[in-house]
Amino acid sequence: MALTPLEKNRMQPFIPFPDYSGGTPRPDVSALRAAVRAFLEDERRAGTIVPGLQSWTTFDRGFSERAARRGFLALTWPRRFGGQERTAFERYVVCEEMLAAGAPLGSHWIAERQSGPQIMRHGTEELKAALVHRIAAGQLTFGIGMSEPDSGSDLSSVRTKAEKVDGGWRMEGRKVWTTNAHHADYLIVLCRTEARSEDRYAGLSQLVVPLDDPKVTVRPLVSLNGEHELNEVIFDGNVVPDTHLLGQGGDGWKLVIEELAFERSAPDRFMSTFGLLRILTEAVGASGDDRAHAEVGRLVARLSAIRDLSLLIGERLEAGQPATGIATIAKDLGTGLEQEIPEVARRVLSMVPVRGRADAAGALSFAILNAPCFSLRGGTREILKGIVARELGLR
Ligand SMILES: Cc1cc2nc3c(=O)[nH]c(=O)nc-3n(C[C@H](O)[C@H](O)[C@H](O)COP(=O)(O)OP(=O)(O)OC[C@H]3O[C@@H](n4cnc5c(N)ncnc54)[C@H](O)[C@@H]3O)c2cc1C
Repeated sequence: MALTPLEKNRMQPFIPFPDYSGGTPRPDVSALRAAVRAFLEDERRAGTIVPGLQSWTTFDRGFSERAARRGFLALTWPRRFGGQERTAFERYVVCEEMLAAGAPLGSHWIAERQSGPQIMRHGTEELKAALVHRIAAGQLTFGIGMSEPDSGSDLSSVRTKAEKVDGGWRMEGRKVWTTNAHHADYLIVLCRTEARSEDRYAGLSQLVVPLDDPKVTVRPLVSLNGEHELNEVIFDGNVVPDTHLLGQGGDGWKLVIEELAFERSAPDRFMSTFGLLRILTEAVGASGDDRAHAEVGRLVARLSAIRDLSLLIGERLEAGQPATGIATIAKDLGTGLEQEIPEVARRVLSMVPVRGRADAAGALSFAILNAPCFSLRGGTREILKGIVARELGLR
């Protein structure tokens, strides 16, 4: 199908901001940006990138493997784990280009963003040797096994348990809202390994659980928009080897908090509706409507500030510095922005959203239907505000 001029424009590179570093010298990334854009353009031509019908959680193993072969995964990881030892800023550039293009990142995103780093920092040598190279090669998909039917915001109340048996941990319990578990090879599961005590954060652990075990069942949870990305995962006596424990038994809460800082500050937390923002800027730019210019200008200004914040956090995390509070603020600001973009688009664009179309009307529909979940996944707005208040000593 031929693209309209507006859609063709959307395919052009569009990262409007200079690489402001707040004084920190950053490497010249123009060659890297050009290389990733060329790769994405090839993928678009091949039909793997279909803006308006996909999000960054869309699963496509082939895309992830090709991206890895072109050197766009595990950029910052040590060479011995299949990485390239490049800077956090270079990885950031690759991520934002992929998100801006609307590429299907769901096969590798969680594994590369948080599971791989978590295993490199806290995994046993056996686990590192078995999994990390394959994550770097885009061959493995991971899910996040935190939420349960009665434990979403209050994660420390998880009831999934793992009991010590010979050579491993025998699991019982249930996780919900597990993104892409039906495609995943492994789930990093927060579970109780010791009875609950007065300290509700004690006695929790993280296990790397293989999902191909017949004693693990993955069932679909179909969303109101009719899509199947979320799942329920049931553990019914599967035994996970000792070597799959992250950190020491009982370290689970500390590790989860650390992992969430990676999850909450990355550019996917404010770029879910970037494609629609691009459509908006182009349409409004051509319109001469001052009110619309001001509305879109405000969105772009916010995007610029949040991007700077997110970059700063990425560099802190890379340097091993704590960033819990600031990552929480970034997520709240970021998801607020990505939710507001479809609201402004509804007001400003004279366009009827049409579900399932690979064009601007499809992108509008997709954004409207998906926006409500942005401020739930990764922690709700109320919970994030509570964390910030605690970090500031207000609670
Ligand atoms: C699209 C999507 C993908 C997801 N993917 C995953 C995944 O891959 N893995 C995973 O583990 N989880 C995942 N989740 C789950 C997500 O992390 C939880 O939905 C979220 O943490 C909220 O938990 P809950 O749904 O149990 O809501 P609840 O905790 O029951 O909260 C319900 C409401 O009450 C409010 N509330 C709760 N406690 C308080 C309080 N103390 N003070 C004030 N308000 C409060 C909340 O803010 C919310 O508005 C996903 C969710 C979505 C929507």
